[in-house]
Amino acid sequence: MNICIIGSGYVGLVTGTCLAELGNNVICIDNDKAKIKKLKAGIIPIYEPGLEELVKRNKKEGRLSFGSEIKEGIRKCEIIFIAVGTPSKSNGEADLTFVEYVSREIAISMPSYRLIVEKSTVPVKTGEWVENTIKAFNKRNIKFDVASNPEFLREGSAIEDFMHPDRIVIGVNSKKARDILVKLYKPLNAQIVITDTKSAEIIKHASNSFLATKISFINAVSNICDKVGADIIEVAKGMGLDKRIGKEFLNAGLGFGGSCFPKDLSAFIRIGEEIGYDFGMLKEVQKVNDYQKRVLVKKIEELLWNLSDKTIGILGLAFKPDTDDIRQAPSLDIISMLLKEGAKIKVYDPEAMDRVKGLFKKGVKFCKDAYEVAKNSDCLVIVTEWNEFKKLDFKKIKNTMQQLIIIDGRNIYDSEEIKKLGFKYVGMGTR
Ligand code: NAD
Repeated sequence: MNICIIGSGYVGLVTGTCLAELGNNVICIDNDKAKIKKLKAGIIPIYEPGLEELVKRNKKEGRLSFGSEIKEGIRKCEIIFIAVGTPSKSNGEADLTFVEYVSREIAISMPSYRLIVEKSTVPVKTGEWVENTIKAFNKRNIKFDVASNPEFLREGSAIEDFMHPDRIVIGVNSKKARDILVKLYKPLNAQIVITDTKSAEIIKHASNSFLATKISFINAVSNICDKVGADIIEVAKGMGLDKRIGKEFLNAGLGFGGSCFPKDLSAFIRIGEEIGYDFGMLKEVQKVNDYQKRVLVKKIEELLWNLSDKTIGILGLAFKPDTDDIRQAPSLDIISMLLKEGAKIKVYDPEAMDRVKGLFKKGVKFCKDAYEVAKNSDCLVIVTEWNEFKKLDFKKIKNTMQQLIIIDGRNIYDSEEIKKLGFKYVGMGTR
């Protein structure tokens, strides 16, 4: 099939590349000309494991190309995916300016029937708005369908998630659209949930809100564990073995960040408000998530007393491991809070350093590895659970730190082992 992807960010680029890998002809469009220039030159603008190799192969074999003009892609392709950003407005609502703009461009340029697929995460009823917009600007009355096909990939394992999804959700209002999308996804051999467009839109917001709720729930329980001397890791294990609960997303820590959960939670709350329903439960989820960062800073203060002129070593900046994405990363708020207290910060992240350099005017030293961070630090704080931090040589670190304190914001270490080496160890709700 000939496919056009509009918006070549994390989702658009991965979707386009994977669809090319499945044998389709794909053109990825982006209005960021610098990004397209890089992609044409074989430079991948984001860090995503395995992506570079796939892009290069599909480009070389002629199935994947890039462009910056929407009409370039629309002329040749029957299926058009909208994968542009849908960021939060200041009131939490999803900003659909890009989606509207792209819909108009599609309407003006489509030469014959087109299936327009919402891949971006959008509020319920966006499909209707896209349809109305295309109708209004499609003066030649060309037939089209609008479908919703929300994306569930996770940054860091995006290719694996796309190629082996738990399910594919397709929201369609016509048989033609349904047949095209079912055929497109057939090679993945995955379970397909076919529903109407509005239900598909809600599935995405409800799924992300539910996962965020699970994270905040276990974090709230971890705060109780902290106060009474129980261990959240054992509590989570005891809970998660119950099949009705499941063990995924029960890792207590610093809460969620990234470009999706915080934004989608706010958008879902706003959707409720607009239709007169107060989704108060989700507001509480946000509150717990914000609070976790304060919990961490409080733990640091309890161990170091005054933070003025103390050196805090931060391991991890990305909002989660295996990505360079720092959007809404807990690290940024934590560093800001510590700087306000007068602390000096040393940081290291395997992929996200360049994105953070420039965000803090002074007080932050960017180091070449975790060992340089530890050197002369008064405490070492794990903020992102990168695999390389799980394998640190603490015997080596021990000889270089100012004070032997490890604060494990992601509960990645065996506390007993760290304590045996002579460190003070504090986790999030652990013993
Ligand atoms: P992103 O910011 O990485 O990419 C969006 C791209 O769209 C950018 O490259 C931008 O330049 C481009 N764009 C904006 N306006 C355009 C226009 N008029 N024409 C062409 N290109 C345009 O965002 P993302 O992380 O890929 O997310 C895209 C959507 O997918 C969002 O709705 C997001 O919520 C959703 N989503 C993201 C993830 C994720 O893990 N990142 C997962 C599932 C769903």
